[in-house]
Amino acid sequence: MNQNSIHAKTEARVLFVDMDSFFARCEQQVNFWLRGRPVGVCVYTGKYGCVISLSKEAKALGIKAGTRLNEVMEICPDFIPVESNPTRYREFHVKIISILQQYCQDVVPKSIDEAIINLTDYKLVHPDPEVLARKIKQDILDKVGDFLSCSIGIAPNAFLAKLGSVIGKKNEGANAGLQLIDQNNIDAVLGRLKLGNLPGIGKQMCYRLERAGINTPLEMRYADPHKLKAIFKSIEGIYWHYRLNFIETNIVAHEYKGMQAMRQVSKEKRASAEYMEQLFLTLCCTLEKRMVRHKFYCKAVGFSCHYTDGSRWEDGFTISTPMQDAITLMNMVKVRIAKFEETTKCAPIFNNQITSLRLSVTNFVNNGNMLYSLFEDMDKKETARKTMHAIKDQFGHNKIMRAVELTDNKVIKDVIGFGSVKDLTDLDYAAIPRYD
Ligand SMILES: [Mg+2]
Repeated sequence: MNQNSIHAKTEARVLFVDMDSFFARCEQQVNFWLRGRPVGVCVYTGKYGCVISLSKEAKALGIKAGTRLNEVMEICPDFIPVESNPTRYREFHVKIISILQQYCQDVVPKSIDEAIINLTDYKLVHPDPEVLARKIKQDILDKVGDFLSCSIGIAPNAFLAKLGSVIGKKNEGANAGLQLIDQNNIDAVLGRLKLGNLPGIGKQMCYRLERAGINTPLEMRYADPHKLKAIFKSIEGIYWHYRLNFIETNIVAHEYKGMQAMRQVSKEKRASAEYMEQLFLTLCCTLEKRMVRHKFYCKAVGFSCHYTDGSRWEDGFTISTPMQDAITLMNMVKVRIAKFEETTKCAPIFNNQITSLRLSVTNFVNNGNMLYSLFEDMDKKETARKTMHAIKDQFGHNKIMRAVELTDNKVIKDVIGFGSVKDLTDLDYAAIPRYD
């Protein structure tokens, strides 16, 4: 169901929950002696390990996430590096989400430490969202962990609620960790912020907005949406107008059914294994490009080969980690083909009798709704893919390619493009291959 609508919602009934310093707090939760100390979670604790989450005490010393341990220890010899524990964070995440779901079924996890609660249809049960927000904060402390504090933003749409959660972190006293934004105070709230304070507006975009005469979030709210569109050079500009004017753009679930790519193979071409390999990669890249354009990740894949004698081989499977990357897609299908060939001792699926190849992806999730994998910066990979396709579109397909797209006679050189090998072990073999 798509919960976006171009109608402005006036009532503040969307809550955005953002856990404070989540990974560091989880560690301080389970190890009492880390509390009150400058702690940082690192993927690895070698000399040049990178700090990914800092405790309040470490932040107060001016240490920034992303700094390497050798530099951190120089500034602060008392700093305590702790190796990351993804399983622990996932367990706390699940407990937190289940607390939220006790109040409302309309809960969308946005990341490991963020979730949206949409109370639009819960007016009778929860007439005052602020009362509920306070109750949720207390509930997490009481039932999940007494050190797991969070900030909650309340607003008519998800974006402003997120902004509220960011502002709430700086609030003190009765409103610590809480900020409501609605039509009564939005101009005052935006008036205190700079463009760069808006989540999603980076340095480059600040510069472009300022060059076009928009210097503050407040000016952005009242700017002509078409002017914003021109500045952003995309529909994204219109979305920014929506976000700042109470229209929902950030809660997305859609009914897009699937995409498929198919190619016929001529008699001469099918004799070349190298050509078939390239063709298969092309199909994967085609679907990747379309998913990138629509900001979709798929959770199900279908693949079929048709042969000269009229027979076909089909396979379909679902995956637990939503996927967009062509190389990952290709590798997954290949792994399954290899497994099928091995268990059935059949002739190679890719052979010189293939007349057509068909690849499809379905069960989409929108990237705005994704529960990102821990420590995997999927946004960056998506940007990398997007940029690559933009260059290809503008300057031609062969001007830029992944190492993997270069073939060395027969074989494809590399199997880890922008993708991740992690997905290969994360296959959920739900569907059984068919052969007919
Ligand atoms: Mg957080």
